[in-house]
Amino acid sequence: MPKNITDHSNLCLHTMTTKPWSLREAIDGYEKAGVPGITVWRQHLEPYGPEEAGKMLRGSGLHVVSLCRGGFFPADTAEGRQANIDDNRKAVDEAVAIGAPLIVLVCGAVPGMPLVEGRKQILDGIAKVLPYAAAANVKLAIEPLHPMYADSRSAVNTLAQANDMVEALASPFLGVTVDVYHLWWDPDLANQIARAGNTIFSFHLCDWRTPTRDILNDRGLMGEGCINLREIRGWVEAQGFSGYDEVEIFSTEYWAGDQAAFVERIKAAYLKHC
Ligand code: ZN
Repeated sequence: MPKNITDHSNLCLHTMTTKPWSLREAIDGYEKAGVPGITVWRQHLEPYGPEEAGKMLRGSGLHVVSLCRGGFFPADTAEGRQANIDDNRKAVDEAVAIGAPLIVLVCGAVPGMPLVEGRKQILDGIAKVLPYAAAANVKLAIEPLHPMYADSRSAVNTLAQANDMVEALASPFLGVTVDVYHLWWDPDLANQIARAGNTIFSFHLCDWRTPTRDILNDRGLMGEGCINLREIRGWVEAQGFSGYDEVEIFSTEYWAGDQAAFVERIKAAYLKHC
């Protein structure tokens, strides 16, 4: 087991965790709460535009950990696939504008498209974006998604599949994101985290509620569910990972409440359960 967490110096929040807050409110709210890291979702960037958002972030004391999310590569037509590649290049430009060193890739899937074909298109798409990202000094991280999202959100569903892609493209600018919500069930997880080694670029935290009332927007606060959070953090840190612990909670329930109070609950749960 890793060392207990005793302060919030390594804590990062995703703007989606406090979805009702605008980027301005999130920046102010995290700073007030003493949360040092922020991962910015593109939908929170959009109302300001990347230049203005970049100014706001640089003017704050926050550390921009990553931009979420790029990806969604597969499409039924060549035009569709090209549009997706163009959108990912745009995400690279946005990352540069806000000072994000990393873009997290939710790789995409098309309902009805065989998953093997989806993964081929994903690998091809990443290969086409990677030189553009590398030239901009922005890293890309493949985030495998839980298999319940294999129909429409990602054909990459295990860390083994993500590791295969990272090895195939062999670039210092390509790695993986370990998200406990998506990967905790995998009997091969410890081995695959060891295999990923120093290509682990980011680490996402929340918990798995039983029962899960909604497959998208019912993630639990850490400690509310069944995920072996501390053990998985130990596996990740054993690889030399020293990045932020990023709390990413999609929750209709928590979004309905007071966001500043929710941030305080996250801070307490982080110390107690992670
Ligand atoms: Zn995640």
